[in-house]
Amino acid sequence: MKYLILRRIVQLSILTFFSFGVFNFILKGNLSSSVLFSSVPLSDPFAFIQLVLASLQVDLVALSGALIVFLFYAIFTGRAFCAWVCPVNIITDFAYFVRNKLGFNQARVFNVNKNLRYYILAFVLVFSFLFSFPVFEEFSYIGIIQRGVIFGGISWLFVALIIFCIDTFFSPRFTCSHFCPLGAFWALSSHFSLLKVRYNLQKCTKCYKCLGVCPEKQVLWMIGKENQDVKSGECIRCGKCIDVCGDDALGFSIINLRRENEK
Ligand code: SF4
Ligand code: SF4
Repeated sequence: MKYLILRRIVQLSILTFFSFGVFNFILKGNLSSSVLFSSVPLSDPFAFIQLVLASLQVDLVALSGALIVFLFYAIFTGRAFCAWVCPVNIITDFAYFVRNKLGFNQARVFNVNKNLRYYILAFVLVFSFLFSFPVFEEFSYIGIIQRGVIFGGISWLFVALIIFCIDTFFSPRFTCSHFCPLGAFWALSSHFSLLKVRYNLQKCTKCYKCLGVCPEKQVLWMIGKENQDVKSGECIRCGKCIDVCGDDALGFSIINLRRENEK
């Protein structure tokens, strides 16, 4: 429960900073483009790449903002954006909770390969170039929901409802773990980040609760088999596996240097 509560506090704080002018000195703008402490530009690198491909021009302020954000996630926290910042995660986590409560946690109307998101990512980049507009930014459910929460209105509620229904009734974790090109972008960027989930086989009692809650189960292939850290960039650093593990076999660590040296 510890990381779930922390994540909700961070997600809601970011939305609050964007929503109220009184916090503009901390954070002003939106998730695509913002300014921190009235001086540090922050840009979504995936949105920036689409804009460059669409316009064939490079805005230097946007470039520096994209580099700051990219390096922060790529070097330090990995794909934590998905679990700690993105507002869609609140909806998809809730959908997964409802699925389980309704008792159809195994049921799915359609089966989709998780690599679909990487194909969508490639399509977005190619189409941004071909059609001269940032394709995902134009239709991004993340932007619609975030702007809806910040500026008000009701259209974002329909988008949120569609995401909730797809994840609840059709395919579990579809939006974030199968479809989202931004999640795919961060997964590809996160392989070498310092923050990892550490796994200790000696402490593990093989209850497999962690596999039951992980939104990207494939990243936990080592559970019950090998003393390995979770290295996959697809791990969103949500901490759900750590929260449910009663045996202290899992925990966040800044790369396990001792284990790396022992190899
Ligand atoms: S929850 Fe902990 S003890 Fe259970 S299988 Fe996962 S790592 Fe092992
Ligand atoms: S391995 Fe743990 S931290 Fe990573 S996505 Fe799965 S539950 Fe979240």
